[in-house]
Amino acid sequence: MKLLEKSILCIEKEEQFGAHNYQPLPVVLDRGEGVYVWDVDNRKYYDFLSAYSAVNQGHCHPKIIEALINQSKKLTLSSRAFYNSQLGDYEEFITKLFGFDRVLPMNTGAEAVETALKICRKWAYEKKGIALNTAEIVVCDGNFHGRTTTITSFSNDENARNNFGPYTPGFVSIPYNNLAAFETLLSTNKNIAGFLVEPIQGEAGVYVPSEGYLAEAKKTCEQYNVLFIADEIQTGIARTGKMLAIDHENVKADVLILGKAISGGVYPVSAVLANEAIMEVIKPGQHGSTFGGNPVAAAVAKSALQVVLDEKLAENALKLGLLFREKIQELVDRYDVLVSVRGKGLLNAIVINSDESSSLAWDICLKLRDNGLLAKPTHGNKIRFAPPLVITEKQLLECVEIIEKTVKTF
Ligand SMILES: *Cc1c(COP(=O)(O)O)cnc(C)c1O
Repeated sequence: MKLLEKSILCIEKEEQFGAHNYQPLPVVLDRGEGVYVWDVDNRKYYDFLSAYSAVNQGHCHPKIIEALINQSKKLTLSSRAFYNSQLGDYEEFITKLFGFDRVLPMNTGAEAVETALKICRKWAYEKKGIALNTAEIVVCDGNFHGRTTTITSFSNDENARNNFGPYTPGFVSIPYNNLAAFETLLSTNKNIAGFLVEPIQGEAGVYVPSEGYLAEAKKTCEQYNVLFIADEIQTGIARTGKMLAIDHENVKADVLILGKAISGGVYPVSAVLANEAIMEVIKPGQHGSTFGGNPVAAAVAKSALQVVLDEKLAENALKLGLLFREKIQELVDRYDVLVSVRGKGLLNAIVINSDESSSLAWDICLKLRDNGLLAKPTHGNKIRFAPPLVITEKQLLECVEIIEKTVKTF
């Protein structure tokens, strides 16, 4: 595909004036509606990234945009120095929806993860009785929880971590999907306060743990009085075919972290949910955010969650996810360039027949773009496929055709 002048100009400006902390696929998006996005030259694409699963409800969902417009004309920011007329309603809605006593509203995913870590540490000293400043939190190899200094401290992605030290202490990393390692650690280390885990490792390449892993890990947490902290920022809000990915194993987190699609991709909204026995460790003045819980965020998030329920997006993701993996498996069987497909609901990835340093997955994504479908490689040789959950069966089958037409040429 030849980029037209308008696209080139936009790209050149970003390259010249922006920090180079991303490597975008060369396509310049201008508008979006439902499962589609259009570039500045009015070419139409299926969005198979959904802004890393933030746009589960589809681009510019009319009900969510209406909430945004109405509230932004009325009151945008009160700060938490005062009450506002939207926050309480939203807090009641989200806590009842997920079955927790309380919510702590933040803005970005990384901030919500930081909030959960702070709550966990405070709980460790004030409730569990761990000696001051010795609490440790368990994380998993291959994790992605965001980009703050503390979070990158316990990443083992060298690219995310190198030269950002000194690193925050107090974290232990164990292999993902390994119950024995977890049990051994908890039985020998009395300072463990929490277990921070992604129910499916999204950024690492959509690693789905063995069935029962999350339920067993939760049981082990209960046995050792360790908080099970679920990072559902990418897997939550119906993405995997249930409202939360841990719902597949009937697991209730002690601390639940949400972000991304909680606002339908319209506004940065994140949240930490927990019951009173845990949340009560945070008292006035001990944690906060100027924008967290602002009236626009509250109105938008409430509307975005309501859309997920009204349009039965979890059910759609579950059903179409099965169909998608079945169809892609047929391509895996037929074409050597594809090694495997994996995922849950509409969070899926294909593994490409190349090593992680090869440009093959990138080249396939360029060709997919030319054929009208946008996706991005993750960790070199994997391509994540995560369309908005409002996609229909007919549209999904058309996308499978685009994928086949593309991989055929490699
Ligand atoms: C995206 C993501 C985050 C970070 O969210 P930001 O809004 O980018 O800060 C944290 N955890 C997981 C699992 C994510 O996918």
